[in-house]
Amino acid sequence: MPDATREKAVVSAVTTQLFIGGSWREGAGGRRIDIEDPSTGEKLTDVADATPDDAVAALDAAVAAQPGWAATPPRERGEILRRTFELLTDRIDDFALLMTLEMGKPLADSRAEITYAAEFFRWFAEEAVRIDGRYSMSPNGAGRLLVLRQPVGPCLLITPWNFPMAMGTRKFGPAIAAGCTMVCKPATLTPLSMLALADLLTEAGLPPGVLNIVTSSHAGDVTKPLLADNRLRKLSFTGSTGVGRELIKLAADNVLRVSMELGGNAPFLVFDDADLDAAVDGAVLAKMRNIGEACTAANRFHVHEHVAPEFAERLAARLGAMKIGRGTEEGVEVGPLVEDKQRAKVAELVDDATGKGARVLTGGNAKDGPGYFFEPTVLTDISADARLLREEIFGPVAPVIPFRTDDEALAAANATQYGLVAYVYTAGLDRAVRVMEGLETGMIGLNQGVVSNPAAPFGGVKQSGFGREGGREGIGEYLETKYVAMKLS
Ligand code: NAP
Repeated sequence: MPDATREKAVVSAVTTQLFIGGSWREGAGGRRIDIEDPSTGEKLTDVADATPDDAVAALDAAVAAQPGWAATPPRERGEILRRTFELLTDRIDDFALLMTLEMGKPLADSRAEITYAAEFFRWFAEEAVRIDGRYSMSPNGAGRLLVLRQPVGPCLLITPWNFPMAMGTRKFGPAIAAGCTMVCKPATLTPLSMLALADLLTEAGLPPGVLNIVTSSHAGDVTKPLLADNRLRKLSFTGSTGVGRELIKLAADNVLRVSMELGGNAPFLVFDDADLDAAVDGAVLAKMRNIGEACTAANRFHVHEHVAPEFAERLAARLGAMKIGRGTEEGVEVGPLVEDKQRAKVAELVDDATGKGARVLTGGNAKDGPGYFFEPTVLTDISADARLLREEIFGPVAPVIPFRTDDEALAAANATQYGLVAYVYTAGLDRAVRVMEGLETGMIGLNQGVVSNPAAPFGGVKQSGFGREGGREGIGEYLETKYVAMKLS
């Protein structure tokens, strides 16, 4: 099939309505939202635009499905997850193309995301049957203590655009395994992957009402009534710290259980005993995966002064040689940023840094023409007050900053409100332990540039949020603990 025909077929296969109670329907207001291809700026399709009433209907469906779903045997819930893993893996090519079209990332990145996304279904299929409790004798021997773990109940899940599928499956997997029902509000820029996934879950046997999806251009308006509804039992949000902070405030009124996966400002530390080849490889990955639009993207490269000039030159050579283009094209490594606003923000941060004396080793500019492309960029001579040291860049820009001592490196790494992830390159065991223990982050990549793994607890500290997704911890976010005191006569 010619490429353009296949692209059209993949997009038109998506049902672009609201998914409520197992059926597809238009929004009550009859409005639609245009979805565009960020590599061309052209419209791909449009999706239903939910009203607050639609969102409440989705919660009604989730509430109605909750008792039956909680009573469904864990093995059955696990098998639905396992089948979804298999279906997603079988259809990776179509899902990858769809994701590249709506979000811009190169096909290889989309395939990697879908593999990662599917692994949450496999992992939580295995966790569903391992939900356990406890039975013990009370210390005085007079009674018995029974600890049960039960599903939290209906959840609101809000996801961002940068990983259109994995940010959903990191929540759907444990919620399904635990026996919770869900209302999901995907990002307006990239709803198609999630809508396609709803069909796949239905095919895998997920009963009506367990997952409901509402797309809306008025995120605040449609989620507010749900947060105010005491039938909702949990909010899990992935997105920016600013929006997360507002949602925590709204969730406080009903003392809602909350998980927050928020922004990052990852330091990438290279010590002078590090294997420089490995550090440069890791830096390319930590910076350029997802075109730099990742909460885990390395935002600042703190490099020992003895190796900083060589590291910066080598990183610039690698980034400068990367092929930029439409993500669907063969060999493309750098796609467009997701929208013009995002590209303008990246350009603003680069201009701020260069205005304060930064030197551009490679890149530095937005590209002309259709699509929202920005050149991979390496900067040195960064002023201490450059905004990109404090703000999330969310684009292909790497500032390199030299340090002299370990203490100085650690202090610089921790000098941020964020605490999601840090990367550390060193050959010294003592140094690695000291630095790992001193870093104020939820995750650390030690001599590796990627940390995401469904078998590990993903999450941050400080203003990067709280709660963990994946690993053995992930399912706990969707379970309540109930304790029964049993008196024996
Ligand atoms: P965002 O603007 O905070 O949006 C995230 C989601 O929240 C979207 O679905 C958005 O809907 C919705 N939203 C926006 N305002 C809302 C409101 N007032 N009430 C309820 N929902 C609202 O973030 P983004 O730009 O999509 O994503 C990028 C951010 O996510 C970055 O900061 C990144 O670091 C963070 N992130 C964190 C993780 C992690 O695991 N820690 C992972 C990925 C991304 P609309 O799309 O309609 O605006």
